[in-house]
Amino acid sequence: MNLYNPKCKICRSGHADKVNQMLIEGRPYSEIIAKLEKHIPGLSKANITNHKRHFPVVPEAVKEFQKQLEEGKRKVIDDLEFLEKVKAKADALLDITSDPSDLQKITAAAVQAMKLKYEISGDVNNPVKELLEVLYAEDEEAG
Ligand SMILES: [Zn+2]
Repeated sequence: MNLYNPKCKICRSGHADKVNQMLIEGRPYSEIIAKLEKHIPGLSKANITNHKRHFPVVPEAVKEFQKQLEEGKRKVIDDLEFLEKVKAKADALLDITSDPSDLQKITAAAVQAMKLKYEISGDVNNPVKELLEVLYAEDEEAG
């Protein structure tokens, strides 16, 4: 399968990467045309259909999906490790203090850290609730 076809308008445009990315994301042709016709004048549905004959959308999308899955797996492992560390810190703190405001402080700091982490990574599924459950479950046992 030849990814570059010199007869293809999209391939010749120098913007094939952008078209490919949108095809992989499953964007409708109308959206691809709207976004790229200023770079590829006269871009039509027929051009995209023709480009798809030599650009393997599905295998490329599978590759992309697998990459995202790997990244997602790593992120989940990171979160679990983070939660474990926070819990261990809370445990240690509970051992040396009976002041409930100390637990509150570490909880607030952990929640801040978690929020920041998710703001940075742009994740919408913020597991702060999960973190609070872990910490408050510990609080109940201690009290
Ligand atoms: Zn092409």
